Amino acid sequence: MKPTHIEHLGIAVPSIESAMPFFEFLTGSKCYAIEVVEDQKVKTAFFKVGQTKIELLEPTSPESTIAKFIEKNNGRGGVHHVAFNVDNVEEALKEAEAAGISLIDKAPRKGAENLMIAFLHPKSTMSVLTELCEQPK
Ligand code: ZN
Repeated sequence: MKPTHIEHLGIAVPSIESAMPFFEFLTGSKCYAIEVVEDQKVKTAFFKVGQTKIELLEPTSPESTIAKFIEKNNGRGGVHHVAFNVDNVEEALKEAEAAGISLIDKAPRKGAENLMIAFLHPKSTMSVLTELCEQPK
């Protein structure tokens, strides 16, 4: 598959507003983007650490998978997924499927920051929810 780098770490938080000061302190940088991703029912906030980003995920609805994840983690959230940057998500998905890896997304879809994204199933990835991303061309 050969990803170029870790694009971002997705961290679930009950409140972006409350988490913001810590992540600004930790990364030594201001949050540079806040975006609501409607179809995933999340609000996201981004910080840069070199070429890798931290993506905070706050649920915008109790039905959000992020809301359920936070609930399972005693209401506190935590590391939710790791995202690898690849040149072509569609090809990477085909490669993964051919290698017998279960997919959540059979085809790429649009994520935050206009990236094309797809998730691999945790049952095939040592329980680490794994996202593949491709930069907008
Ligand atoms: Zn992500």
